[in-house]
Amino acid sequence: MKKQKIKSIKLRDPYLGITKVIGGILCILLGLLIFYLKQVSDLTKLDYSREASKNILFTFHKDDVLKIGKSKTLNAAFESVYFKEKYLTNYSKIDYVNHKNLIKNINKLLKIGYSNNEINIILSHGNDSSVTNFTKREKVRYLEEFYTIDYAKLDNYDRYVKYEEETAEDEELVVLYVNLDMDKEDYKDATLVTKFSEDMVVNKHRYLDKKFVPDNLVNISTKYASDSDLKCSKVALDAFIEMSKDCEAAGLGIVINSAYRSYQDQVDIEDLYRKYYGQAYVDKFVAKPGYSEHQTGLAFDIGSRTTNVFANSKEYKWMLDNAYKYGFTLRFTKSYEDITGFRSEPWHYRYVGKKIAKILYDEDMTLEEYFVKYLDK
Ligand SMILES: [Zn+2]
Repeated sequence: MKKQKIKSIKLRDPYLGITKVIGGILCILLGLLIFYLKQVSDLTKLDYSREASKNILFTFHKDDVLKIGKSKTLNAAFESVYFKEKYLTNYSKIDYVNHKNLIKNINKLLKIGYSNNEINIILSHGNDSSVTNFTKREKVRYLEEFYTIDYAKLDNYDRYVKYEEETAEDEELVVLYVNLDMDKEDYKDATLVTKFSEDMVVNKHRYLDKKFVPDNLVNISTKYASDSDLKCSKVALDAFIEMSKDCEAAGLGIVINSAYRSYQDQVDIEDLYRKYYGQAYVDKFVAKPGYSEHQTGLAFDIGSRTTNVFANSKEYKWMLDNAYKYGFTLRFTKSYEDITGFRSEPWHYRYVGKKIAKILYDEDMTLEEYFVKYLDK
């Protein structure tokens, strides 16, 4: 019996040893896991992703990162295969933008010699591909001069420099004019506009093709128009009717003399003017087919019912003070001939919607400036 007992203890012994070892290992692993999870949670609390946190820990940068605190760019750097240890502090000082090649591009820009601040400027004025292109060139000057203007575009850098050299205008005007393609000749390399909208911009650098017809083209009743076959977009007509009623209530009368003109109408107008006044006149004063705002169906030439010369009429004065309330803007004024590219036309109003019309009125701004500052970003 005694012998048997000893045997059985001996038999159990090796298992007990293995169990202890496994138990020990498990304890260590559990301890490590708890330690690791605690480290990760210190970082995830600061908005670092799990992937970034893992890389921060494995590259022994936890203390550096905790010292820096939150940084979306640093997070992206630790997630990226392009992470470079020597740029760790730079990453933390560069504002994050959602670009596919962000870290790769930051590395290149730092290598070229740009400061963190200059890199912030570059990243905030271009998309991923324009920044990528920018990293392929040598270090440029005047970044701060042009790019303190928030709507300056990275892609236009060379054009800004060239236009400033040619015109000696201040940077704000240079950026505005170049963004409007005014450094290009009229009608040259113009942008095709295809979508109808209240805020669409058509001028000597932005055109409509033959096929473009405004949305909801409707006939204008002779109650509001001087001719029976005038048409415009319904949204503009509704606004005009509202305006016309209030104008009448003020004891005045306005009438639409011209509204929608098709591409072909503009061809015919060109031919007519050419016949009577010659090509030079047409080049100077008549919008080329596709480049007339009348093709949008949102523009009106307005007349007074009380006098022939609209610019001298009480209606003209009333319109200057009130048209914006109905969503209209006086499009071509003397002081803005440079920007609009058209000489002053006191009768030419454009429907842009009430919100934009009020901004243009309050800030004494052209539709072109509004486009550059708010729409074309
Ligand atoms: Zn007109």
